[in-house]
Amino acid sequence: MSTLTERLTAIRTTLPKGVTLVAISKYHPVEMIEEAYAAGQRKFGENHILEMAEKAARLPKDIEWHFTGHVQTNKLKHMAPFVHTIQSVDSWRLLCEIDRQAARHNRVINCLLQLHVALEETKFGLTPDACFALLNENPWRDLKHVRITGLMAMATNTDDAKQVQDEFARVRTIWEEVKQRFFHNDDAFAILSEGMTDDYNIAIAQGSNMVRIGSAIFGLREY
Ligand SMILES: *Cc1c(COP(=O)(O)O)cnc(C)c1O
Repeated sequence: MSTLTERLTAIRTTLPKGVTLVAISKYHPVEMIEEAYAAGQRKFGENHILEMAEKAARLPKDIEWHFTGHVQTNKLKHMAPFVHTIQSVDSWRLLCEIDRQAARHNRVINCLLQLHVALEETKFGLTPDACFALLNENPWRDLKHVRITGLMAMATNTDDAKQVQDEFARVRTIWEEVKQRFFHNDDAFAILSEGMTDDYNIAIAQGSNMVRIGSAIFGLREY
């Protein structure tokens, strides 16, 4: 049996330089986050706004909180004061609402556009076309309290490594295109967030520079 600290350290030491680890602590208690924090981890991700807000209130203020779940706009106000990055932005309307809530706290919230490329049906995430349309058709550059810093995606949950690899490669291509067309290759658009416990090595091989790992660090989640 390995300890949480051992598992976390093993992952951190094998990640290539330039790949950032967000430890996904959803459903796990504050005590486990404290252990990871003591081992040097500072970036944590959660999927439920109120759960994240409750944990953030009890934990050190230098933690960088990433939100990776579906955003209910009526709960946005609970994370607007502290969230660092919302990784799951999938509409212009949501981006505007985040801007509005961030403005109330005089903050800038980093946002990743979430792409949907997996085979599973879900209503979350932008299709590649919808992603380009969002950036083409809306005055997102005028929003002063949000910063679009990259893309996030999940691959199909399958044992077919080729399928997963193809999906990550596809997102990488879209990321390059968005970076070139809309950001003139500015490094402010820098993040490609792909890869979880079961597929992060495939994601990194396809160019991911931010992995979101939960179970491999914290163990299985009890819902
Ligand atoms: C839960 C979750 C993860 C982490 O999943 P693991 O398989 O436990 O590593 C990563 N990203 C998102 C968006 C998630 O919801």
